[in-house]
Amino acid sequence: MDLVKDQLLERIEFQGNQHVRNFPFLMGQGNWFGSENLKPNDKLKDVIKHGSITIGFIGLAETLKAMIGEHHGESDEAQELGLDIITHMREKCDEYAKKYKLNFSLLATPAEGLAGRFTKIDRKEYGKIKGVTDRDFYTNSYHVPVYYPISAFEKIDKEAPYHALCNAGHISYIELDGDPSDNIEAFEAVIRHMHDAGIGYGSVNHPVDRDPVCGFSGIIKGDRCPSCGRLESKGDVPFERLRRITGYLVGSLERWNDGKKAEEAARVKHSVDCATCKKDGVYTKSEKVAREVAKKTAKKALGKA
Ligand SMILES: [Zn+2]
Repeated sequence: MDLVKDQLLERIEFQGNQHVRNFPFLMGQGNWFGSENLKPNDKLKDVIKHGSITIGFIGLAETLKAMIGEHHGESDEAQELGLDIITHMREKCDEYAKKYKLNFSLLATPAEGLAGRFTKIDRKEYGKIKGVTDRDFYTNSYHVPVYYPISAFEKIDKEAPYHALCNAGHISYIELDGDPSDNIEAFEAVIRHMHDAGIGYGSVNHPVDRDPVCGFSGIIKGDRCPSCGRLESKGDVPFERLRRITGYLVGSLERWNDGKKAEEAARVKHSVDCATCKKDGVYTKSEKVAREVAKKTAKKALGKA
């Protein structure tokens, strides 16, 4: 953490010594808070301090695998350790913010480029370790791995506490199979569960396919359009299959790096019912009370109560 902090301080020092004329749009037109009174030859030091200085992380799941052999989707012990690690990182950010009077914050990042690059570097150095370096990508931020089968509600419960800790940004994804409009109750249960669990930013991914020939939009299973009946393999115009990668909606994965392509291919869907959680995904009154207590304890630990 100190290494990253020092690198960020060095960068802001460099940026702060640039002049308004180096950034004519950003700094010369009063867009940046406090920049309205600066002259072209003034340095940026006094206004750039208002920006965010974020420390992002990926691969909590792989870290836990390497440390105790299980990730946080697999055991409560791993979840506890995961929360300890991320709480520590957040506390360091708060400490830096206070010490340097800068907006240090902790970011749950997908790290589009690094997710594949770091894995390659680590595999070269440490070899192929099961659950750690044996895939072409590191798991996004604090996410339960995309390939790990877990119900939607359990995934939400595991990831929600990290949202409060990652004050620079956070998101959780649920992958639904099929068209949510066919099962509005399940969709609503997922959203309500996200709300009650403390998910700050949630997203439900579901397939959206389109036949550009007849205009059908929905789910196209296999090769045949359910609307006009044409076979994709028999025509020149392929179906469009919309997918979401690190927050971007894409019709094709061609332009993504190998790491993210591998991540998309490894994804499993999250069921909205399971044996260990309630089918409707709604908390009971006593569970709600327990969650509130847990939230308050977490806030208190961070001095935010
Ligand atoms: Zn069609």
